[in-house]
Amino acid sequence: MDFKDYIRVIPDFPQPGISFKDITTLLNDGEKYRLAIEELKSRVSHLKIDLIAGPEARGFVVGAPLAYALGVGFVPIRKSGKLPYETIEVGYDLEYGKDKLAMHTDAVKPGQNVLIADDLLATGGTISTSVDLVRKLGGNVVGTAFLIELGDLNGRAKLPGIDVFSLVHYD
Ligand code: IMP
Repeated sequence: MDFKDYIRVIPDFPQPGISFKDITTLLNDGEKYRLAIEELKSRVSHLKIDLIAGPEARGFVVGAPLAYALGVGFVPIRKSGKLPYETIEVGYDLEYGKDKLAMHTDAVKPGQNVLIADDLLATGGTISTSVDLVRKLGGNVVGTAFLIELGDLNGRAKLPGIDVFSLVHYD
């Protein structure tokens, strides 16, 4: 099955020149959404995974059902100020300005094997920041999983030595 058929591409969103990959059309189709998660599950089935971590908000939409399907826990990675308990934070650059991502300090135990999941790999900034957070807590990043990978932005270059699993590619 070609999951691309279920992803809607919106030209010039959120600004001119950006071709936005809209996964809401895939999520809207229960069978295709389930098949996409099952396909990601089969791509990572050779890994030993203790936990899945996903950055808000679309990382929850991919990471949580994948965690459920694998029978492992899910850890939210959130924007600064959203998590209620003690956190660690890592800053990252956005196109305009800076932001921070955070995790609870007890979310990952040292030595746990963590797969990081999100909807889309673009420049890799979000995921490499997520990798930094998991590693700061002593977690072992065993791979990253995405519905979509934008090849021309070469996000993989920000993930040296880390396996990238993605279902749909755009150049
Ligand atoms: P990166 O940090 O540049 O790799 O951007 C990836 C993040 O931006 C992901 O969390 C995505 O949810 C979001 N993102 C960037 N481009 C798109 C898009 O075309 N469609 C959906 N999300 C996008």
